[in-house]
Amino acid sequence: MDQSSGVNLAVDGDVAVLRAAGGAAPVFGADVRAALIGGLRAALLRPDVRAIVLAIPEGSAMMGADEGEIEEACKAPTLMDLQAEVEDAAKPVVAALSGSVLGAGFEFALACHGRVASKTARLGLPHAKFGMMPLGGAIQRLSRLAGIRVTLDMVLSGTAIDAAAAEEAGIVDWVVEDDLTAAASAFAHCIAEGEQASRRAGDLDVPDRDEKQDILSGAIRTHGRKLRGTRQLELTLSALRVAAETPFDEGLATETELSLELARGAEASARRHVARAERETWRIPDIPAETETLPVERVGIVGAGTMGGGIAMNFLNTGLPVTIVETRQEALDRGVSVIRRNYDGSARKGRMSQDDVEVRMRLLTGTLALEDLASCDLVIEAVFENMEVKKEIFGRLDAIVRPDAILASNTSYLDVDEIARATSRPERVLGLHFFSPANIMRLLEVVRAEKTSKPVLATTMQLARRIGKVGVMVGVCFGFVGNRMLAQRQREATKLILEGAMPWDVDRVLYDFGLPMGPFAMSDLAGLDLGWSRETSKGETVKEILCEMDRRGQKTGAGFYDYDENRKAVPSKVTETVILDLAERRGMARREIADEEILKRCIYPMINEGAKILDEGKAIRASDIDVVWINGYGWPAHRGGPMYYGDRIGLDEVLETMRRFEATQGEDFRPAPLLERLVREGRGFGDL
Ligand code: NAD
Repeated sequence: MDQSSGVNLAVDGDVAVLRAAGGAAPVFGADVRAALIGGLRAALLRPDVRAIVLAIPEGSAMMGADEGEIEEACKAPTLMDLQAEVEDAAKPVVAALSGSVLGAGFEFALACHGRVASKTARLGLPHAKFGMMPLGGAIQRLSRLAGIRVTLDMVLSGTAIDAAAAEEAGIVDWVVEDDLTAAASAFAHCIAEGEQASRRAGDLDVPDRDEKQDILSGAIRTHGRKLRGTRQLELTLSALRVAAETPFDEGLATETELSLELARGAEASARRHVARAERETWRIPDIPAETETLPVERVGIVGAGTMGGGIAMNFLNTGLPVTIVETRQEALDRGVSVIRRNYDGSARKGRMSQDDVEVRMRLLTGTLALEDLASCDLVIEAVFENMEVKKEIFGRLDAIVRPDAILASNTSYLDVDEIARATSRPERVLGLHFFSPANIMRLLEVVRAEKTSKPVLATTMQLARRIGKVGVMVGVCFGFVGNRMLAQRQREATKLILEGAMPWDVDRVLYDFGLPMGPFAMSDLAGLDLGWSRETSKGETVKEILCEMDRRGQKTGAGFYDYDENRKAVPSKVTETVILDLAERRGMARREIADEEILKRCIYPMINEGAKILDEGKAIRASDIDVVWINGYGWPAHRGGPMYYGDRIGLDEVLETMRRFEATQGEDFRPAPLLERLVREGRGFGDL
């Protein structure tokens, strides 16, 4: 046994077992790689050793979490050097895989001559989550072992698979229940004896090579929506094509170039920014980690509508009992049945068992009496967006629930300070702004009101984490962070369609930018009649006119768009006529509007508003705003969030464009003082 080099080398019979000594960080760092090469060479030199087992370090390394790791991955001996030594070894080398083997560890195993896994092992290539592709030739090797279809899914989704699936796909040769080392040793011995074929990836043909075209175009359908227009998708597909068309060594060389280009490119930097930003949001400068927190064992929800039901599911999923209150039995029944239907749907899709559904439903109590919330530690109000209604409810709740219980509102726009004043405990009141659908969207804006106490904020941030949300602390202002910035974009989109663009032009530009949908498609989805009523409608905006025509969005089969029988949106002649008529009535001369103007008119005022939000202290840091937009509105992660994007394109460009638009559009484009100051100082949001 040789421990001096950082690896254990144990020989049993004619098989050497090589194991990286624990404690080294990163798990697959340059030191570990050097030690493994040393151990491998030593084993190859020993005449009594005929085959080698490599125990892959568990937990494994995921190169690419930050720049340091990419540089570390490039230090000699690189993963590729190590793989080449294994691949070319004169004696068979078998990987023994247990636990979570992700990233570099898995890539290393792919270079071995065989792979044995314990039943509980999980294997994966998480690089996609960082806007990257694997750095160690995984695409070339995996394609030959399992085909390009499996490779494509694993590489683009970044999701790990279990040992059984890996065996079925041809990645793993043998799955064992126990004594992995003994099994791997036996397997290696059999290869040395010629009783078992070596499965060195470089010697194999890509099994589904002939289906390449279908598979790659299918990828655009399944993964293209999220990754459309990215270098990540483009370069990953190139590497897959190369795997199907090129000899192994040549393919490896090309893949290395492509993967490094991607890892060092703008998209991966943006993704790393997002990963860092999501770690940062939990840090609240004046609320240290050791701040006292309050127990939350029972949650009350007022309102079982769209939001109340979704919010309830978050807590039921973590095993917290929920009492939900409605005004009428039908509304309560409807709310509860929607929750059940959602869970049943998940069970049908295999995401949970029917038992899991029942466990959750048993934790849910529906009632028509607000008094039944008396024993709750936290009550979240999700009734109509109406100040008087909310104040009345908070006043009543104040008298019902314990004085130290927390009261929260899910309001989208209303003044949480005013709501808090309706109680005798403003220090226990805050906003918890969930996003729709509340059981799915990861964002939670934790709205800190003037008097909200630190323990209440610490408790709710902790609770956000417990229910799997990304909590971002924001201050009280109209629309908080997300909707306040969204309003800028909505305003410009509405102006643009009267000036000359059509709704589908605006939507296309924002969709191509990477957002899940444009403002008009979103409006059709949410319903054009939010906040509209026939009695008060003045027929003065495109939206009002469409509502009056009963074109209220998808639910009425028409809105800004027409919808065909498959609910696919198609540009509408009716809407076009409405827009042209209104523009004429207003005496507006329509003009051709370039895509570039559409994009800048929609996005730059958002960045500008973000600057105001920061200046007013309504967000703690610019990266928190990015997290809001990525998790609440589907801002494309490869563009890092609006504030990061502003820094990337240059704040001087943003400011200059704002001024140019200000000349024609007026105060909607007045630059934020912070934007001006940063440009003067040559700094960015990231430097604050
Ligand atoms: P909704 O109309 O779907 O549901 C509101 C429910 O509250 C209704 O079922 C109603 O019967 C019930 N209700 C009204 N008064 C009540 C009372 N006194 N006691 C008990 N129940 C009562 O509305 P929603 O979309 O779920 O919105 C609720 C809140 O969440 C609003 O403040 C809204 O601004 C906010 N919000 C909505 C969204 C969204 O996308 N829908 C997103 C974030 C926040």
